[in-house]
Formats: sequence, C-alpha cells, structure tokens
Amino acid sequence: MKHQPPPPPLPLSQPPTMGATAAGGVASVISTMNGSSSSGIEAVKCRPPIYPKPKTPSFDKDRDYIGFATLPEQVHRKSVKRGFEFTLMVVGESGLGKSTLINSLFLGDLYKNRQMPNVEERIEKTTKVEKKTMDIEERGVRLRLTVVDTPGFGDAINCEDSWRVCTQYIDEQFRQYFTDESGLNRRNIQDNRVHCCLYFVPPWGHSLRQMDLDLIRRLHLKVNIVLVIGKADCLNKQEVRKLKERILQDLEDNHIQLYQFPECDSDEDDDFKQQDRELKASIPFAVVGSNTILEVAGKKVRGRQYPWGVVNVEDPQHSDFIKLRTFLISTHMQDLKDTTQDVHYENFRAQCISQISQHALRERGKLKRDSISSTNGFDAAISETDRLLLQKDEEIRRMQDMLTQMQEKLKQTHLMEMKKNDSVIDV
Ligand code: GDP
Repeated sequence: MKHQPPPPPLPLSQPPTMGATAAGGVASVISTMNGSSSSGIEAVKCRPPIYPKPKTPSFDKDRDYIGFATLPEQVHRKSVKRGFEFTLMVVGESGLGKSTLINSLFLGDLYKNRQMPNVEERIEKTTKVEKKTMDIEERGVRLRLTVVDTPGFGDAINCEDSWRVCTQYIDEQFRQYFTDESGLNRRNIQDNRVHCCLYFVPPWGHSLRQMDLDLIRRLHLKVNIVLVIGKADCLNKQEVRKLKERILQDLEDNHIQLYQFPECDSDEDDDFKQQDRELKASIPFAVVGSNTILEVAGKKVRGRQYPWGVVNVEDPQHSDFIKLRTFLISTHMQDLKDTTQDVHYENFRAQCISQISQHALRERGKLKRDSISSTNGFDAAISETDRLLLQKDEEIRRMQDMLTQMQEKLKQTHLMEMKKNDSVIDV
C-alpha cells in the first residue's frame, strides 16, 4: 500500500514580534502569586495562537491516507492546552545578583516586597526556603514558573546546615510526588519537583569554596545543577576564562557531575549544532543581570550604566546571559524536566521502593517470628490445660470411687440394721 505523505502542518501562530524575540521569547507575565501583574519591565503581549484545524482526510480522494501523521500535532495541542510547569531553585549567598538575574530572565518582578536582613539578623540567620510562582504566557503557551529561593544561604557565620535545607526541600518534593503518584487522583498531580538548580558562584574567589563543594556534592545526584558565576562584570575576559577553568577542574577533581548536556542529534541543522557547541563551551555561565532598560545608540538594551560605559547584559561579548536564557528556556527546559523524571526522580523512587520492600521484609520476618512464638505459646497453653483437665478428671474419678464406696458402705449398714430389726421382731 502506498502512503501519501500528509500535508505539512500549518504554522501554529504568527512568528514572534521583534519585541518578543529581544525579550528572550517570554512575551507577557500574566500574574504573580499575589495576583499582581508584571513589573514595569517591557513585556510584549502577543496575539492569541491560531491553532490549525486538523485536516480530515478525504477518504474518496486519498484512499491510502491513514492519518497518524497528525499525531505530533495532537500531542502538541494537548500539551499546550494543559500548560507547562517548571521549578527552578536558586542557591547562593545574598548579594550575588540572584533576584536581579531571575527578574531579567523571566521579565517579572518576583522580589517586590523583599526585606533585607540587617547584620545581626545575618549572623544568626538560618537558611529558609521561599517559593514564588508566576504564570507566564507566550504565543498561547502557558508556563507556571516556580522559583525556589534560599535566602540566608551561606549568610550565617556557621553555614554548615545551609545545604541540609536544600537537600531536604528537594527530597520533600520527590516524596510528595511519589505519594501523589501512588494515590488515586494521579491525573491531576502538581509537579513541584525541582527541575534545575542555578548555583551562584561569587566572582571574587579563585575557584569553588569548600562550602560550594559541600553543597554541590550533596545535590548533584538529586537535581540538575547549573553553575553560574554571578556579577561577572567584575572580571575581565581572561579572569572569566581562568575562573571557569579552575571551577571545571575542581569539579573533576571532586568527581562531581553537573547537568550533562544531551548529545546533539546528527540530523540537526548546522546552526543548531553550532549553538549547542557554544552553550557547552560556556559552562559555567558568567552572567550579568540588570532590570534597567538603557538607551544605547538609539537602541533599548537591558544594561548596567557605569561611569566608563554601559554593560549590555544581552551582548555575548559582555556576558553569558543570553546563552543561559537560551539554554534554560528555549532549548533545554524540556530536557531538564526529562532528566529530573528519568534520572533523579527514578533514583529517589528506586530508593523508596527498596526501603519499603526492606521494611516489608523486616515486618514479615517479625510477624513470622511472632506467630511462631505465639504458636509455641499456644501449644504450651494447650498442654497445660490438658494436664489440668486430666488432673481434674482423675480427682473426679477418685471422688466417684469414694462416693461409690461410701454408698456401698451405707447400703451394707442399712441392710445390717434391717436384719437386726427383723431379728428383734422375730424374738
Ligand atoms: P541577591 O541577594 O543574590 O538576590 O542579589 P540582588 O539581585 O538583590 O543584587 C544585589 C545587588 O547587586 C543589587 O544592588 C543589584 O543591583 C546588584 N547586581 C545584581 N546583579 C548584578 C551584576 O550582574 N553585576 C553587578 N555589578 N551588580 C549586580
């Protein structure tokens, strides 16, 4: 049978406007958790998407057309309808530019009501976990973005426990997902698992610090870690290169594996392959963040104004910001989610199942031992009862013998007396 190729699918919507492209693809921030709308940062609202009507095959004309070639379209429509969820954890000490970068990446203002701790508070401060959610929509695709911040991380003098808060949070989300998955309403599970952890390294060190290594070592098997050198405008090109090299060396020496970029498919086009190579070569991303829009040579850019000039955050010569955004949002978001599901969550699930089965085995062993000992006890109780019954039987039998003897004696006495009376009467 000859299969006619189906007609090519129509474009799903209009291509993004220049504004949307310049804004890294995120077109509009619909709402934040507290219901407020987006920040004053430029946000471009696009037209609602135009979905193509699936072409119904005409059986008269295309007899050989089966129709399964529309399957990708069906999957696409379903996913778009359902929307997407993504959880990003941001870890690093205060002041490294985490909130600025997150706001720049997603064109939102997630940190409006932020209160900075004073020095005394910081000495005692323990690491907390703060969760902020915003719904973003771009060309009809809805994304529920959750940013998990860890204020206080590394701030206290004793920051040994900082990593514990992060690992606990990640494990709790896995545990919740595991419980939901084993429950009844599996269709509506909210996925709060952490899909990516952006770990901020300060630009002023020579490489990773002991506390960075401590945390990364504990997290790298639980979550996709992506290293980011914050405030990279403090370093010149050679310094950035050297710092990156030393960080990578440290990771290798400590056998730490960060998120592994998937291999690029051989059938991808050359531009994509080139972009993939550049992304891989940029790790760890050296970023500069800013929420200020400046005008440079008649063009509006997101940047930082210094007395000697402007750092254009989106200029690849100045920072890896665009590369990080491309990686995180445009090219690898789904792979980060897949790796979380297939690798990190699977590890957690396997551990849980093994713990549950070990517990069940222990319980069964205990039950068996209990039942054996209770059976033995039962046997012992039975034999004791039997012994007592036998004793009682014996006693009853002896008493019956005595009674019989007594009755016999009474009878004889009675007879003798009767005989005596008879003989008296005879006389
Ligand atoms: P967080 O505590 O890590 O969330 O840091 P913030 O985002 O609040 O930034 C702390 C300070 O650093 C603010 O004054 C920011 O304007 C500034 N800042 C943020 N990003 C950068 C950057 O890339 N370079 C420089 N030089 N300063 C930055």
